Amino acid sequence: MNQFEEYCTEFVQGIGSKDAAVSPSIVNSASFAYATPEIAEGIFDGSIKKPLYSRMGNPTTAKLETIMAKMDGGVGAVATSSGMGATTLAIMSLTASGDEIISIGGLFGGTYALFTETLTRFGITTHFFDVDELQNIKNAINKNTKIIFLESVGNPNMRLPDIKKIAQIANDAGVVLIVDNTITPMSVLPLALSADIAVYSTTKIICGNSAALGGCAVFRAINDGEDKFKTSRYQEVHKFIKGAANMALVVNAKKRAMRDFGMSANANSSYLTLLGLETLPLRMQRVISSVATVANELSKNGLNINHPSLKTHPHHERYLRDFKNGCGTLLTIDMGTKEKAYQFLNKTKLATITANIGDSRTLALHMASTIYREFDEDTRKFLGITDGLIRVSIGLENPQDIIEDFLAAAN
Ligand SMILES: *Cc1c(COP(=O)(O)O)cnc(C)c1O
Repeated sequence: MNQFEEYCTEFVQGIGSKDAAVSPSIVNSASFAYATPEIAEGIFDGSIKKPLYSRMGNPTTAKLETIMAKMDGGVGAVATSSGMGATTLAIMSLTASGDEIISIGGLFGGTYALFTETLTRFGITTHFFDVDELQNIKNAINKNTKIIFLESVGNPNMRLPDIKKIAQIANDAGVVLIVDNTITPMSVLPLALSADIAVYSTTKIICGNSAALGGCAVFRAINDGEDKFKTSRYQEVHKFIKGAANMALVVNAKKRAMRDFGMSANANSSYLTLLGLETLPLRMQRVISSVATVANELSKNGLNINHPSLKTHPHHERYLRDFKNGCGTLLTIDMGTKEKAYQFLNKTKLATITANIGDSRTLALHMASTIYREFDEDTRKFLGITDGLIRVSIGLENPQDIIEDFLAAAN
């Protein structure tokens, strides 16, 4: 049984109801009435579990959060208005001015900009390392380090981190590890690999058809005995551990980020994301098989393909050992020059040119002229962005059709 098989039953059974509307109901209300002042008081002090106000929680969104938490084996989850919302929620709930972040590997452009431009304005500094610079990462940890952040697959550099080893470093130092698992839901299980928080852009393969922007952060339970969150490094979390015990990280995220920054998910998007989740295991299975087939055929035909399933990839061994359920929908093609890349994109009949990934359709985009246009030469080099680089997200089409179309477009 592959890893996705386990989720097929859980997702469709968990989302549909057996005693009411089968499809999840969309609770399109910003506010909720409290029948009496006593009930209002109970809802506000947390003793009555009923919705308070949609910025702090919504029943449709709660259903999504329950399934996402289950998917990752977390104690709870907080859905957000976008993937950037989920990353911001996780980071802003744990940091203050003077704190430091260690970021490992290639990064999604928005996250890179958050670290380098926005968080610096609030006095939070980020240090960047390549996935295999383990000693330098260890050396960079100091008393102000609050978060180690990595993506399960470098987008778009396709480098694969050794998550277990990095989690070990984080645990030894008592520092929180956040994994952006957008590209590999279910293929990689960050919390099982000993990460503390997994963040997702559900906009991508989880929703799956470009229908809804969204994000989600999944949190582990606080341990009964020793726990890194009980140390002085995470003093701000202590009062939530007192009040909410093993659910402290969820409450911390809601009270220290969601309430004040307001990156809340809306019920309509949560509904569309739930529909996506129902078929996610099937789509993942299809796409990880297609992406390896397409990478292999295009590479055999002389295209410069970057994908860890290829023997030439520097992390091929790691791919075989740690990514048995694939590493998502992405591969990249280096056409050598911007002109050749544009020629390819103008000739492909099948790929949709867009900045999204993880869609039902195959998507493609020239990197240097779009997402990375404002980045200087050195940063592009660090992130693996070359002049001719096209990022491709393989969709659900027949893989042979993709191969034929791409070979025709490359000639
Ligand atoms: C798209 C993406 C994000 C941001 O998600 P949005 O929903 O667009 O805000 C974050 N991380 C990764 C890896 C992504 O691909």
